Amino acid sequence: MLRVIAIDGPAASGKSSTGARVARELAWAHLDSGALYRALTLATIDQLTAPWSAQRILALAEELPVRLVLVGETFQPEVAGVQVEVAIRSERVTQQVSAVAAIPEVRRWVNARQRDAVAAHAAGVVVDGRDIGTVVFPDAPLKIFLTASAQERAKRRLTQRGHRVDDARLARESQALAARDEADATRPVAPLKPADDAVALDSTTLSLEEQVRQVVALARERFPD
Ligand code: C5P
Repeated sequence: MLRVIAIDGPAASGKSSTGARVARELAWAHLDSGALYRALTLATIDQLTAPWSAQRILALAEELPVRLVLVGETFQPEVAGVQVEVAIRSERVTQQVSAVAAIPEVRRWVNARQRDAVAAHAAGVVVDGRDIGTVVFPDAPLKIFLTASAQERAKRRLTQRGHRVDDARLARESQALAARDEADATRPVAPLKPADDAVALDSTTLSLEEQVRQVVALARERFPD
């Protein structure tokens, strides 16, 4: 049986925090697929002049290289041997990542890296993203579609960045998240949507502990050994 738990959902719905905690509870690894799209975007905006082509982005990814490295139990993105976990969260990457992720060849490359990572980690991998249950691992025995209200997601994102939460900031952040969700949900290839067999989890009023508890309980049912 494929030992993958797929967690999909819109931006800032808590996929990565939940995925990391669930993986720790189960002694599995965690892979945030968005981090690889972000690492590829960081390399692209730093090294290539627009207009970018799929061919140049992928040649760059192989040459630098852009890759996932297992650090402890987490697959971390690396660009040219340097860990980029902080740099990939910058605003300039966030603004461009959906455009890079909409390129079909880029998606094929990222999907292959995810499948390699899972094949190399027999204990199991919790993978989060937008198309994990629908496209990358359609046979995953457990798929979660994690949502939360736009207001709550914007609040969490601001708090995470250490910003004060006021009405103006909240409105701006929630607009930026909505624009990225719209781009991700309306693209022709692998749009953000729940798989038919995904379990929907609305985390608007749930604590992180409660989300983790619910996913771990489902995992223990679906992966009894
Ligand atoms: O999860 P995160 O918000 O960091 O993802 C950044 C971007 O990467 C998303 O807005 C989306 O455009 C893209 N992405 C994707 N498919 C995935 C994961 C992320 O298209 N599986």
